[in-house]
Amino acid sequence: MSAIGLYARATPGFDARVEHSLAVLREAAQAHAGRIVQATSLGAEDMVITDLIARHRLAIAVGTLETGMLHAQTVALIDRIRERYGLAVEVYRPDPEVALRFVKTHGERAMYQSVALRKDCCGLRKVEPLGRMLAGRSAWVTGLRREQSNARAVVPFLDTEDAERVKVNPLADWSWADVWHYIASHDVPYNPLHDEFMPSIGCAPCTRAIAVGEDFRAGRWWWEDQDLKECGLHVKEDDPAAATEAPQASMLAMPLDETLGAHR
Ligand code: SF4
Repeated sequence: MSAIGLYARATPGFDARVEHSLAVLREAAQAHAGRIVQATSLGAEDMVITDLIARHRLAIAVGTLETGMLHAQTVALIDRIRERYGLAVEVYRPDPEVALRFVKTHGERAMYQSVALRKDCCGLRKVEPLGRMLAGRSAWVTGLRREQSNARAVVPFLDTEDAERVKVNPLADWSWADVWHYIASHDVPYNPLHDEFMPSIGCAPCTRAIAVGEDFRAGRWWWEDQDLKECGLHVKEDDPAAATEAPQASMLAMPLDETLGAHR
């Protein structure tokens, strides 16, 4: 069954949530004109946000991190966004020399050797390129949702904790069913790997399919202690647990068997 068949469900208040998300994005685009970017992981939530930006012609740039380790299906979404929406996606890659040196020194499977090496890999492939994406920008848009994890249960629509830059989370109050209901009703392009029991898709070496009954996040950095899952993109210095994954890494912890009765 496809991800749409598994997860999409119309629930009360859906239209109001969409309208509110749009209002949040519209206000942010006006308040940060020319200085706002959507940092898309190309995951389901972020594809919804890109659709909202394109559909309503919001002046928000779209940027992504091409780590050099993504699945071909994920990379293909960059062109699909361009073709479907006519949006020029900014692509940020790691410094090739730094990446090469890291692989030469530690090997291609360094992320499995230790948490420190895995974080170093995330640092050079994600955190440093993200810094370039955000340079000169006063706001960024993410697909964080409160439902994704306990640490994100209080995600605000506008996170102003960083004095330098506002984080805009327009889908903060959306459910996983909402995300897929929007994708289904607006024919939003999405990663076909979502149809292969990969609700959370990151770099290829660090993502696996999940089994029935497993937490949606179980397929990310599955060999590590849950408390150590962190790539640094959403780290809050006083709350390490708040940054347990990349933007696309977490989904609603809902056993697959509970979703089987969901409809489009
Ligand atoms: S998710 Fe895995 S492959 Fe990707 S940057 Fe982090 S450690 Fe490296």
